[in-house]
Amino acid sequence: MFREVQTGLRAVPLVFVDPAHSSRECVESGHIDKRNRVDQGHFICRGCGVVAHADRNASHNIATRGESVWSAGRESRVPATP
Ligand SMILES: [Zn+2]
Repeated sequence: MFREVQTGLRAVPLVFVDPAHSSRECVESGHIDKRNRVDQGHFICRGCGVVAHADRNASHNIATRGESVWSAGRESRVPATP
């Protein structure tokens, strides 16, 4: 179900998630808007007003999605390449 990747001394479980809108979605409110991503480094939610570093916001969204997949025990597959 989950892959394990050898990284030095330990195997780490690897979960694939859909990254769609991860840079446009607010990690606090879930509000998705292209305008939330003000520029490369800044994220300001149009829904709740939270201000964050854009990469930090997006990385939290990815982590939350991964945790959701992991906790639910759902199958995680490598995304198809076009
Ligand atoms: Zn928000």
